[in-house]
Amino acid sequence: MNDPEHALWRTTCAEAVTAPPLTADATVDLAVIGGGYTGCSAALAAARAGASVCLLEAQEIGYGGSGRNVGLVNAGLWLPPVDIRAHIGTEVGDRLIDLLAKAPSDVFSLIEEHGIACEPVRNGTLHCAHSASGLKDLQKRHEQLRVVGAPVELVSADQAFERTGSAAFHGALFDPRAGTIQPLAYAVGLARAASQVGAQIHAQSPVQAMQHQGSQWVLTTPGGKVRAKSVIQATNAYHLALPDTAPAYVPVYYFQYATTPLSHNLRASILPQEEGCWDTGLVMTSFRLDQAGRMIIGGMGDLGNAGQGAHSGWVRRKLAELYPQLADQPFEQGWHGRIAMTSDHIPKITQIGPNALAAHGYSGRGIGPGTVFGRMMAESLLADDLSLLPVPAVSEHHESWTRVRRAFFESGAALTHLIKARF
Ligand SMILES: Cc1cc2nc3c(=O)[nH]c(=O)nc-3n(C[C@H](O)[C@H](O)[C@H](O)COP(=O)(O)OP(=O)(O)OC[C@H]3O[C@@H](n4cnc5c(N)ncnc54)[C@H](O)[C@@H]3O)c2cc1C
Repeated sequence: MNDPEHALWRTTCAEAVTAPPLTADATVDLAVIGGGYTGCSAALAAARAGASVCLLEAQEIGYGGSGRNVGLVNAGLWLPPVDIRAHIGTEVGDRLIDLLAKAPSDVFSLIEEHGIACEPVRNGTLHCAHSASGLKDLQKRHEQLRVVGAPVELVSADQAFERTGSAAFHGALFDPRAGTIQPLAYAVGLARAASQVGAQIHAQSPVQAMQHQGSQWVLTTPGGKVRAKSVIQATNAYHLALPDTAPAYVPVYYFQYATTPLSHNLRASILPQEEGCWDTGLVMTSFRLDQAGRMIIGGMGDLGNAGQGAHSGWVRRKLAELYPQLADQPFEQGWHGRIAMTSDHIPKITQIGPNALAAHGYSGRGIGPGTVFGRMMAESLLADDLSLLPVPAVSEHHESWTRVRRAFFESGAALTHLIKARF
C-alpha cells in the first residue's frame, strides 16, 4: 500500500502529454529544465508568445512536488502580509502579495482555457483552528488579510463543524479565492497545452551539463544537445546533476494517505462543499476529498525514513479523531514529497548566468506561485527586462545548516506523531 514515490495522483490522472526523450540536437529561443508547474507554465507562456521552446524533464512530467502535493490552490504564501513586507520591504512585498492574491484565478483560468482535466473545485479553503491559540493566530491573519483587501471570512466553531463535518475545530478562516485540483493532472495538462501551442516537451531527458558558449547556452542530455538564447531552471526541490546551479533550501518531507472512496452516506456529512482544509497545528495536518470521494489526509514527515511507523500510526488515529465515522475506513495508498523551504519562507529567483534564471523555495505553496513565477520568468527573459519578475532576481542564495535543519524537522514531526499516536 505504501510506496513513498508513487502518489495516488498517478493512478487517477486524466491528462496525458506526448513527451518522448530528446533524440536529436535542437536550437530554440528558450530552454526550460524541469517539468513541474514552474517549468510547464514558463513553456506555455513562452510558446503562446511565439517563442520556440524546448522543455527537458529528467523523469516524467510532474515527477517532483507538482505530482505529489495536496492540491490546495491557495492565494498568497504561508506568511501573512506583515511578515512578507518585513522580509522583503513594502514595495516588493506589496507587489508580491498582489500578484499571489490573484494566483488562484490565474490557475483556474488556465484550467478553463485549456480544458485541463484536473478535477478543479473552486469552493474555497478552510484553515482550521486546532486549539484556542490557533484561533487567535487565525484572527490575526484575518485582520492582516482584510487590510490588503482579501475577501477572507472567520467562521465559528459551529460553522466549521457544518462545513467540515468535524467537531475538532475552534473555528476556521475561509478563503473563497482558493480551491482544489488533482495536482499531477494540472502539471501534465499545462505541458499538454504548451505542446499544443508548439513547445517541444521531452521527458526522460535529464540535463547533465549546462555551458554558456558565445551568446548561447548549450544543454547536454543523453540523447542530444539543446542550444538556446535563454534558460529557465525549474528543478526546485528535485534538482538533479548541475552542481553549479543547485538551489539552496531546507528539505522538508510531507506525506499523505488516501482512503478508499467514501460511501454516499458518509460523504453527505463530510466536507459537503469539498473545501480543501489544513489546520493551525505546528506540525500541521491537511485533509480534503478527491473527485472519487477518497479522504486524503497528510502531515509532516518522511515515509522512507525510520519515523515511518510513527507517521502511519498517527494518521490512522488522527483520521479517527477528526472523523470517528472513518475510524475503520481502509487506506489505499500512502506517499510523500519533498518541499523546498527557505529560511524566510519567501521564494527565490536566482540569476544563474546571462539570460538564465532559476526559481525555487515556494515553501509549501507552489501551485499558484509556480504558475505565476514560471510565466513571469518567461516573459522577463523574452522581453530582456528583469523588472518584469515577481521578485527581484538575486545573484545567489545561501542557506546554512540545511542537513541539521532537515533532521530537526523530521525528528520533530516523528516525535510529535509518536506522542500523539500513543496518548
Ligand atoms: C507533499 C507536498 C504537499 C504540498 N502541498 C501543496 C499544496 O497543497 N498547495 C501548494 O500550492 N503547494 C503545495 N506543495 C508545494 C508544491 O507542490 C511545489 O512548490 C511545486 O510543485 C513546485 O513546482 P516546481 O515546478 O517548481 O518543481 P517540481 O514540481 O518539483 O519540478 C521540478 C522538476 O525538475 C526535474 N528535474 C530536476 N533536475 C533536472 C535536470 N537536471 N534535468 C531535467 N529535469 C530535472 C524533476 O524531475 C522535477 O520533475 C506541496 C509539496 C509537497 C511535496
